[in-house]
Amino acid sequence: MERKQFELGDIVQMKKPHPCGTNEMEIIRMGMDIRIKCVGCKHSVLIPRAKFEKNMKKVLRSNAPQSDVAGNIED
Ligand SMILES: [Zn+2]
Repeated sequence: MERKQFELGDIVQMKKPHPCGTNEMEIIRMGMDIRIKCVGCKHSVLIPRAKFEKNMKKVLRSNAPQSDVAGNIED
């Protein structure tokens, strides 16, 4: 099984939509537990990382830097 990649600030889609009908969550805290915030109603929940990885469907928008910056390491 491929390992899911996600970063702080990413917008992710969960397998089950939030009760408010929105299925987009923003990762607002990362650690042993992950805190995600519903984009629709701004409600946030803290869930164990393992459970988050299981329930997360995919990353919709990544907060990672643009790739054009990556080739510019040498100064
Ligand atoms: Zn919601």
